[in-house]
Amino acid sequence: MKPSSVLFPPAVIGVFGSGQLGRMLALAARAMGYRIHTYSPDRDSPTGQVADREVCAPYDDLDAVRNFVREVDVVTFEFENVAAAVAEVAAEEGVPVRPGGHVLHTTQQRLREKQFLRGAGLPVTPFAAVRTEEDLRSAMDQIGAPAVLKTAAFGYDGKGQRRIDAPEQALSAWNALGRQEAILEGFVDFERELSVVAARGMDGAFAHWGVIENVHRNHILDLSVAPARLEPRLACEAIELARAVLEALDVVGVLCVEMFLDRRGRLLINELAPRPHNSGHLTIEASITSQFEQQARAVCGLPLGATDLLRPAAMANLLGDLWSHGEPNWAAALADRGIKLHLYGKKEPRKGRKMGHLTALADTIEEARARVLKARSALARQHDSALESRETAALSEWADAVNEGGSHGS
Ligand code: AMP
Repeated sequence: MKPSSVLFPPAVIGVFGSGQLGRMLALAARAMGYRIHTYSPDRDSPTGQVADREVCAPYDDLDAVRNFVREVDVVTFEFENVAAAVAEVAAEEGVPVRPGGHVLHTTQQRLREKQFLRGAGLPVTPFAAVRTEEDLRSAMDQIGAPAVLKTAAFGYDGKGQRRIDAPEQALSAWNALGRQEAILEGFVDFERELSVVAARGMDGAFAHWGVIENVHRNHILDLSVAPARLEPRLACEAIELARAVLEALDVVGVLCVEMFLDRRGRLLINELAPRPHNSGHLTIEASITSQFEQQARAVCGLPLGATDLLRPAAMANLLGDLWSHGEPNWAAALADRGIKLHLYGKKEPRKGRKMGHLTALADTIEEARARVLKARSALARQHDSALESRETAALSEWADAVNEGGSHGS
């Protein structure tokens, strides 16, 4: 197949990684008639459960990688920490890789990513490279405290990070990270955390879902609302930063730019994710085209879909912690008939593990936020049937009151 040709359904999209992002991509792509093959070391994975084919092999088994790519029409990724060799094998086999291997190469290493952003003239958190003890000392002199020391490679959800409140803590922080290559960042006293999830097509078309506002807890995304409460000038600025990133990296696919809004009103890029992002999950219900359908469209060379937000939306993550007292009370949360439940099919609800999410739409972001948080807190209720029925009735009344307040026949 010619790399530039459009892939129509039932072309096969090959996904490296098999988590929830691949699962939601698979669901959206299959709705359009595409086929999905997934590759990862795991069996019965979130993606594998809904894919046409699940290949279980290590990422460094390049023979297995080659066999996998021979069976697919395009290769994409659902997480960026796959060795660049995977993209090279696909390229050798003449199978297009979207976004390209260079995008993975840049974004899978924090130092490379920050250097690329700074080189492109984009605003980033102050940072310095740490490879030796001498580097660490000069980085501390340059950045000052408070700061955050992060491993340069393979970090996500706050893993491999240590906060440094005084220079004398720097060495023990680096030791705790195993003295790996690291990046020292100034700690940003941010007013808000924001993200722009955006897509770029093979023809260079750009689409975005506006600015999303995010709240993290223990370094893990907890809650997202859209549209972000932001003055229009800053919202435009954030979107233009995202456009600049996708263009500078020549992305074909979906990419999320995570940013801080600092207390001086400046936007600083914290991190890039070259794929759909947790903060964009609300686009499944809130937009004409979700971030997952958009990824399928972009990597297959179709026109990008419309990204208008239909209503204000809020998304709350469901972490494994919710299972600490047994199965969450799904009925109590779903008593509000406007709540949408997504579970990722993961068997072990470990602490801090993303197991699913809830989404609510409403007339205002405040209402959507209150609604999704109320539903999430209802999950922790005991399965006491008398109590449950009383509470279910109370929740329905509350939900009806919300619906009467302007839901369009939901
Ligand atoms: P990251 O893994 O870099 O996305 O970091 C996860 C979360 O840690 C971010 O969303 C922030 O809440 C927090 N964080 C990371 N880096 C910084 C920083 N330089 N200043 C302040 N907070 C940070």
